[in-house]
Amino acid sequence: MSVLVVGSIALDTVKTPFGEVQDALGGSAVYFAAGASFFAPVNVVGVVGEDFPLASLDFLKARKVDLRGLSAQPGKTFRWSGVYGANLNERETLDTQLNVFAAFKPSIPDAYRRTDYVFLANIDPELQLDVLRQVERPRLIVCDTMNFWIEGKRDALLRTLKAVDVLILNDAETRQLAGEADLLRAARKVLTMGPRTLVVKKGEHGALLISQETFFAAPAYPTESVFDPTGAGDSFAGGFVGRLAQTGDLSEDGLRRAIVYGSVIASFNVERFSVDRLKDLSEAEIQERFRAFKRMTHFEE
Ligand code: AMP
Repeated sequence: MSVLVVGSIALDTVKTPFGEVQDALGGSAVYFAAGASFFAPVNVVGVVGEDFPLASLDFLKARKVDLRGLSAQPGKTFRWSGVYGANLNERETLDTQLNVFAAFKPSIPDAYRRTDYVFLANIDPELQLDVLRQVERPRLIVCDTMNFWIEGKRDALLRTLKAVDVLILNDAETRQLAGEADLLRAARKVLTMGPRTLVVKKGEHGALLISQETFFAAPAYPTESVFDPTGAGDSFAGGFVGRLAQTGDLSEDGLRRAIVYGSVIASFNVERFSVDRLKDLSEAEIQERFRAFKRMTHFEE
């Protein structure tokens, strides 16, 4: 089954302790599509400007990513710039230039309206709702957001959340949305807002899968080669939703395996700048690291 993603397509300028890239391919929809495309066909809706190098997306086309929902508009492409300190968990945004993204009104092509799995990347919650109005009831709606919308568009976000099945947040966002300092208490409160499942990303400490009845903790892969954490969250979401679309298994066990596939994809993504590592990643490497996760977390009573 295929996946629809609506999100940003960006040219990122990123500095880490290991180097720097300028105007590199990025954006939530790109990282998500790159991750999900290992598992399922992906339909992308987004906007780029006249300056965008369309050929940089050829690797996605080669992997069954449908880019008919990409609109090229007069003006410049969305640009984001960030810097990471010695502690790669902390990032400072230096600059955000919305450019053509400022007037972005997602229009879902007819061919995408029946997509079974929908990922609403981190965009204005009013636009997320607008996307949901344009699709036939999908089998699963997964949503991402950020502190900016939790603060600035809380009412619209709460309306969106009512329609969402799975919400993906980081730990700080979970606390902020719930207004609760205790993470588990905060997660329980978020689960009363609409989503029946919450995924809490905790950076180098892995991810939690929480529903009213269940709790699962996946570690992050203990890699020594973190190079650029940009896109870790979106590529994680790509692996997670892509795997669910591939198997159709929305049981607790299926969700747990998908969380681990998300962690696998994110762990590769951070090994190089931009989406570079996901370009040459192989199926065999994904399966090998999935098994490494299994070994890492397995223990007997
Ligand atoms: P992540 O590291 O998973 O949070 O994702 C980073 C990606 O999000 C970068 O490639 C940026 O281009 C993109 N990004 C940063 N800020 C925004 C924003 N305000 N809206 C949409 N995308 C953004």
